[in-house]
Amino acid sequence: MSNADIILEFLEHDRARQFCDGCISKQLGIKPRQQVNQVCNKLSKQGAIHRADGTCARCGGSTKVNALAADGAVEPKKARAPARAAKVSQQVDVERMRTEIVHRCQELWGRARKEAPPESVSAFITTLREDKVIPRHQANMMLTICNLRNVYVWDRVPFGDREMAVASAAWEIIDEWWKGRRGK
Ligand SMILES: [Zn+2]
Repeated sequence: MSNADIILEFLEHDRARQFCDGCISKQLGIKPRQQVNQVCNKLSKQGAIHRADGTCARCGGSTKVNALAADGAVEPKKARAPARAAKVSQQVDVERMRTEIVHRCQELWGRARKEAPPESVSAFITTLREDKVIPRHQANMMLTICNLRNVYVWDRVPFGDREMAVASAAWEIIDEWWKGRRGK
């Protein structure tokens, strides 16, 4: 995941608020702070975030702050259901899959760790993988779904048959593992 994706995930997590470069750098561990500055300037030019003078929600400083652009991450429309998707056992809804992944990870996190989880979904999954709470393979499938969803929502990459096939196969791998470990 690129720093741009991690910053977008963070801003999307708390979309009602705005944060300065310094707080984003600290929160997400993206160093040096200049790196955040560069990425946010670029995202602002692309229209993904809104960058202007304001008050940071975290440190209260009056400075350049960043927030997700109003239309920076729209709820994805329901994908058309092409013929091939009929074979897919589950209605493919990548947003719903991602939400479900977040819920499951929160449940796992609650059992494994005391501190609050990271505010970026990818950082969340990666930490659980490093802790060996989620096996590498299943963690990769979770990241695949989150990345598919991100390019769909942020970069407007169309969600066609192939993307649906990848998402639903990844989902099956995660779901099978999840159900298996619940039975234990
Ligand atoms: Zn701040």
